[in-house]
Amino acid sequence: MTRVNRREFVIAGAAAGLASATPSQAFGRAPAVLTRQSPKAVVISSANGNRFRNGGTETCVELAFRRITAGDDVLDSLVAGVNIVELDPEDASVGYGGRPNADGIVQLDACCMHGPMRRAGGVAALEGVRTPSSVAQAVMDQTDHHLLVGPGAQAFARNMGFEIEDDLNTDRSRRLWLEWKRRTDPRHYLDPNRELARRDVETKRLATLDSEHGEDELHGTINCNGINPAGQICGVTTTSGLAWKIPGRVGDSPILGAGLYLDNAVGAVGSTGRGEANLYNLTSFLIVENLRQGMSPKDAGLAGLRRIQENTIERRLLNSRGLPNFGVNFYVLDAGGEYAGVSMYSSQNSRYAVCTENGAALVPLEPLLDGSPGD
Ligand code: ASP
Repeated sequence: MTRVNRREFVIAGAAAGLASATPSQAFGRAPAVLTRQSPKAVVISSANGNRFRNGGTETCVELAFRRITAGDDVLDSLVAGVNIVELDPEDASVGYGGRPNADGIVQLDACCMHGPMRRAGGVAALEGVRTPSSVAQAVMDQTDHHLLVGPGAQAFARNMGFEIEDDLNTDRSRRLWLEWKRRTDPRHYLDPNRELARRDVETKRLATLDSEHGEDELHGTINCNGINPAGQICGVTTTSGLAWKIPGRVGDSPILGAGLYLDNAVGAVGSTGRGEANLYNLTSFLIVENLRQGMSPKDAGLAGLRRIQENTIERRLLNSRGLPNFGVNFYVLDAGGEYAGVSMYSSQNSRYAVCTENGAALVPLEPLLDGSPGD
C-alpha cells in the first residue's frame, strides 16, 4: 500500500482554487485543505471490486484505473468499473442477480459524485435496470435533480434509453429467496423434498444460510472512489441493499453523506454494511470533514466508526459485549492520493481493493474493534 508521507502535503488553505468549495463554506468554516503537489492515480473499492470479472479480463478497480490513467473522466471510469460487478450474476449484492426484497423483487440503489463538477446523481428502489450506477450518472448529467426513486426512476431510465427488464433475478438469487421464504414462512412455502431425513439436513443447512453466505452477501454493495494525477476525485456506490428487505426500503447507498460523499479539495468516502447505522450518523460526510481537519484516512475513518459505535445504544443492536452487533466499512481516499479502508470488526470483510501503478490487490481493512459482531 502506498502511503504518502504527511510531510509531502502542503497546507493549501482557501487559496487552493478548487479548495474554496461550497461544501466547506456550508460547513461554516474556512477550509484548511490538505493537497499533495501531484497525486498519483489511485482507485479503491470494497473487496468485490477486485473479485469479479463477469467473464472479462479486468476487475472493476483494474478497468477504472486503466481508464483514469489513459485520461478518461474519473467518474466515467469508475462507473464503467462498477458496471462489471453490477452485470455479474455471481455478485449477489449488486445489480443483476442481487438478492431481492421480501417480495422476491430486485430493487437497486446507487449514487455518484463528480468532484470537479460539484455534481451528483442518485436512484433508489429502482427495478428492472441492471446498472443503477449508470442511471444515477444520467440523473446527474441530464436533470436538475439529485435523487429519483421507484417507478419515477424507472420511467426516467426508460426515457434515457436504458433497457427495462421484467425481472433481475438470476436462478441463484431466486433459489436463495425461495430458501429464505421456506425458512421464514414454512407453513405456506413447503420444501418440495420434505421427506423427514431430507428435511433434517435442510433445516440444519438453512439455519446456517446467513452465516454461510456471510456479511458480504446479506449486506453487500460496491463503493469505488478514484483520483487522477490532476487531483480530480469522483466516487460511486451501487447496491441491491439489504437482502430480503421490506419492499421500498432504501439504505445508505444512494444517500449523499452516507453511502458516498466527497469534496474534490479534501477526499472521497463511501460505505458498505449496515446502512441504517451509517444513515443515523451521515458517516461518510463526517469522515470527509475529519479529513478536512487534517486527519489521515485511517484516523478519519476510525473516528467515523467510533461515532457509530457511540450512537448504537439500542439493546437489539448490541452483542453480549455491549458493542454493535453489525458490520460496517468505509473506504477513504484523500486529495493527496492517500487511502485506507476501515471496518467495525477485525473479522468482517477483512479486505478492500486498491489499484495503483503497482497493480490491483486486496489489502487489509483497519478494524476499530477486535472480534466479530456476534461475539
Ligand atoms: N449499505 C447497504 C444498505 O444498507 C448495503 C450493504 O452494504 O449492506 O443498503
